[in-house]
Amino acid sequence: MKDMFQRPLSDLRISVIDRCNFRCMYCMPEGSCLDFLPTDKLLSFDEFLRLVKLFVLLGVKKIRLTGGEPLLRTGLIPFIHQLREVEGIEDIALTTNGVLLSKYAEDLKEAGLMRVNVSLDTLSEEVFKKLNSKYFELSDVLKGIEAAAKVDLKIKVNMVVMKGVNDKEIVSMARYFKGTGHTVRFIEFMDVGNKNNWNLNKVVPKVDILRRIQEADMPFESVEDYSGDVAKRFRYVGSTEEFGIISSISDTFCGSCTRARISSDGKLYTCLFANNGLNLAPFIRGKASDEDILAKIQDIWNHRNDRYSEERALINSSEIQKIEMNYIGG
Ligand code: SAM
Ligand code: SF4
Ligand code: SF4
Repeated sequence: MKDMFQRPLSDLRISVIDRCNFRCMYCMPEGSCLDFLPTDKLLSFDEFLRLVKLFVLLGVKKIRLTGGEPLLRTGLIPFIHQLREVEGIEDIALTTNGVLLSKYAEDLKEAGLMRVNVSLDTLSEEVFKKLNSKYFELSDVLKGIEAAAKVDLKIKVNMVVMKGVNDKEIVSMARYFKGTGHTVRFIEFMDVGNKNNWNLNKVVPKVDILRRIQEADMPFESVEDYSGDVAKRFRYVGSTEEFGIISSISDTFCGSCTRARISSDGKLYTCLFANNGLNLAPFIRGKASDEDILAKIQDIWNHRNDRYSEERALINSSEIQKIEMNYIGG
């Protein structure tokens, strides 16, 4: 199944909950008006599972669980167990802010989770309080990473870089994780949603991130990647260790975007920057057959022509209504 730019569908991201225990400045800043979904609007895990099985029939091989904060959703671990049993799924991953990870790492691994991306933007307690959460400690996230490593989950560390907020820590983050086997991915601050006061001046582009690492005497070389990963990969010279950059602003990758997203209330989005999606909940909760739902998804994907990042320069980002990141999942 291909979209209008011949892109297959191979990844499915499920936002299992829109709520979160953090208030990251770049996602749902403290004080912004937040209207979370009532619990009965969230799809149940049985409903998600039915959808997953249908998406697998259409070519999906990788599942990522995200949110909001996915570890806040009760029943996540048995759901991962069920996902593991679905024939055709090759990869099950989770994106988390890490604060509950030390509590759940062992159970997640046991249930069948393969990889975890932990969001960590700073090594400074002071910046963490300002950027991520006043109520939790940075050390809880670091403990979460340790716990995940202990049970052999493959770990990537996601750092959203915001100019004037945490960009001075690019090098210290690279140094801290070099030698641990965990890949740091520097993410350009994106204009997702309408609440994070995005503007281009707050973005540190890929070339600047690379320059700072180079100037810190950490030479690296580019790694060819055919896996469809959105990150540009780099390997430290003389080492097998890597870091990555997700440059959705300065060096876009829409041409290889093979991802569909399902929001916590069952809407299907074909782009992170979409403003509407097909609501699958009435079909799942009504009398639609699997064939009916498959036909709907197929139709949406076949007509997909999203390439927001490539068109960004022509758009006034603040003037269009977009879905918030905690709702659609990163
Ligand atoms: N709460 C979990 C977490 O933070 O890892 C999962 C959901 S979060 C929306 C998924 C990812 O999106 C995180 O790695 C987060 O850093 C990233 N993200 C959120 N807002 C972003 C933005 N404006 N620009 C770039 N990345 C963003
Ligand atoms: Fe929560 Fe993740 Fe958004 Fe931060 S980025 S507010 S942890 S959903
Ligand atoms: Fe995919 Fe949309 Fe991002 Fe382009 S802008 S890479 S189509 S999610």
